[in-house]
Amino acid sequence: MTDDFEARGKRKKLIAELRKKGITDEEVLRAMDTVPRHLFMDPAFLIHAYVDKAFPISSGQTISQPYTVAVQTALLEVKRRDKILEIGTGSGYQAAVLAEMGAKVYTIERHRELYRKARRSLAELGYEVEFFFGDGYAGKPQYGPYDGIIITAATREIPDNLLRQLKTGGKLVAPVGDVSSQVMTLVRRSGEGSFEYSAHGKYVFVPMLRGIVKEK
Ligand code: SAH
Repeated sequence: MTDDFEARGKRKKLIAELRKKGITDEEVLRAMDTVPRHLFMDPAFLIHAYVDKAFPISSGQTISQPYTVAVQTALLEVKRRDKILEIGTGSGYQAAVLAEMGAKVYTIERHRELYRKARRSLAELGYEVEFFFGDGYAGKPQYGPYDGIIITAATREIPDNLLRQLKTGGKLVAPVGDVSSQVMTLVRRSGEGSFEYSAHGKYVFVPMLRGIVKEK
């Protein structure tokens, strides 16, 4: 399946809706206007691709709501050539938005099937992203330190191990809380051992879990 006139029109409407909901970062809006979100979902669900809702993908996981993708991405203040680590590849859509913004993206997924699918989707669209099948709690210190780290699954606390993989001046964004509700939390590493925290509204994500799942 490819992008087409109809999908592009639906995407424009979605972008207008995101603006109305308060998204002002033009680079984020441009990237989301460019990346065909429907290609990250089952073709049978095309009509759901451009409504502002999360949607089930395989392995019991979800592709985040467009508004949530926009908020997390805007909080990172991504610049071209920034090195960004994502925990929770899922469909690969968020990784594609970051790559479209010119970031060098490293992304980790604990479900083997999702990891495989996402890698295929991004290759088909021509985005160069580094994919890893593994447990995101470990991060990827060998490619760090990062300008930004984005956790796209709910975590009770931000793993110290990931904070240590940030550059000074780098930012980490994560939904922090229990399974029922999380607070979007932005952490800025202001010095070697100093971190500034700020809160950015309530969200509900699927949980960040330990270990890997090798189905199939
Ligand atoms: N960013 C995704 C949405 C991801 S949903 C997108 O754009 O579609 C959250 C994902 O985090 C799920 O795929 C889940 O399997 C994954 N996940 C949960 N815990 C993880 C961990 N410890 N390491 C890596 N991935 C994890």
